[in-house]
Amino acid sequence: MRLAALGLSHETNTFSRVPADYAQFEASGILRGEEVAQRHGTAQSTMAGYLEAGERLGVEVVPLLFASTGPCGTITRDAFERIVGEMLERLGQAGPWDGVLLAQHGAAVADGFPDADGEVAARVRRAVGPDVPVGMSLDMHGNLSERMVANTTVTNVYLTNPHLDARARGLDCAGLIVRAVRQEIRPVQALETPPVVINIVKQFTGEEPMKGLMTDAMAAAARPGMLSASVAEGYPYADVAEMGMACLAVHDGDAAQARAAARWLAGRAWERRDAFVGDVLSVEEALQRAAAAPRGPVVLMDVGDNVGGGSPADSTFLLAAAQAMEVRRYLQTLYDPAAVQACVAAGVGETLSLAVGAKTDDMHGRPVSVTGRVRLLADGKFEDPRPTHGGQRFFNAGTSAVLETTDGHTLVLTSRRLGNTSIEQMYSLGIWPERYGVVVAKGVVSPRPAYEPIAAEIILVNTPGVTTADLGFFTYRHRRRPLYPFEPEATYP
Ligand SMILES: [Zn+2]
Repeated sequence: MRLAALGLSHETNTFSRVPADYAQFEASGILRGEEVAQRHGTAQSTMAGYLEAGERLGVEVVPLLFASTGPCGTITRDAFERIVGEMLERLGQAGPWDGVLLAQHGAAVADGFPDADGEVAARVRRAVGPDVPVGMSLDMHGNLSERMVANTTVTNVYLTNPHLDARARGLDCAGLIVRAVRQEIRPVQALETPPVVINIVKQFTGEEPMKGLMTDAMAAAARPGMLSASVAEGYPYADVAEMGMACLAVHDGDAAQARAAARWLAGRAWERRDAFVGDVLSVEEALQRAAAAPRGPVVLMDVGDNVGGGSPADSTFLLAAAQAMEVRRYLQTLYDPAAVQACVAAGVGETLSLAVGAKTDDMHGRPVSVTGRVRLLADGKFEDPRPTHGGQRFFNAGTSAVLETTDGHTLVLTSRRLGNTSIEQMYSLGIWPERYGVVVAKGVVSPRPAYEPIAAEIILVNTPGVTTADLGFFTYRHRRRPLYPFEPEATYP
């Protein structure tokens, strides 16, 4: 049995002004053939789960192409057509296939294709024909569409946020496809999309309301004959028709049972709708609480500069307030290649004055003037063998500078946009976050595996920006209506 494994994975923030063009994907690495196995074999990603299925189940899984890049704006038409074109070309050349495994994200938007994942699934289905089982394992932030489901045999979604089960879900999905190829099962899928948006600050699956809903998902999956049950939390920063949450059930042969399970799960989500509305502290409230904490580090989640959600990684709202409020023993990263170059020009041990951050656009604060000593310069590459959000192992922040400022702040300046999902980011630079009073993590949920083990407290902060928790900040043109809580009169079923 031969299964093809391939994917174009992107989480698209349609409010971001940084387009996902071909150069962006190339810079992140468009992996072909054996490169996919080299990069993902020892990782914890979806693709790693697909490859593991090959070893465990005694089938041949052939990696063809995997392209991904950090969350940012809409994928350009050129990038989409070139990458998907190459995917299909490789699929055609190396076929025929017994099955196909797609490693998509689920919240990709391309110019001309608002449901880009549905478009990829449809093109793959067209290429292999109606009888070849196609599996697709998605990120929990996917905005699921009927088109994605109609063009796959089995779709499943991670069950954890932070995402620590990407590999396991990839393996599950591949396992079902192998059984479908052997005609041991006949998967039928049902998608229910209750009209609810889960605010990004309520998406942590370790806490209510998501914790209970995931218990319900397990119960749905345990019903007789059920093959899989998933809840996609959705990605509120993609202004597309399918934005919002989704419940997906897969039954062995009985469409009515699949529909009943998906409806029941969607109903359980709908009952919790009030608990999915966001409530977070202001910048000043959060810094006051952190500064008054009996012990540190207090980790402040910079929600408006959630790099994993498509933010620019250079927001200065927290830094500016920390400077004004004289909060010391403070640590944060900032994407600022020009500032890194200034530090490189000055040299290690030298002191300089410069303005840092907020250079991508005008939505993430203003550059902050600081004076500091360059303690360290580094190439910014590091590796984390621990479980991290999404299962990534190799990281690259680009040329980086550690600046110790006269405000009592440690600033890690980077040349590439990178969130704070790995504590190795700090250890590799000789920084111990444990020794700080306040540590800023640009994200909402994704930094938890890195910082929960050392944080005295984690506080979510309502910073402005393209990933703000304040969804009233955005003008949506394409989302479905009604959607709770935007339209409180929404009803379900
Ligand atoms: Zn995600």
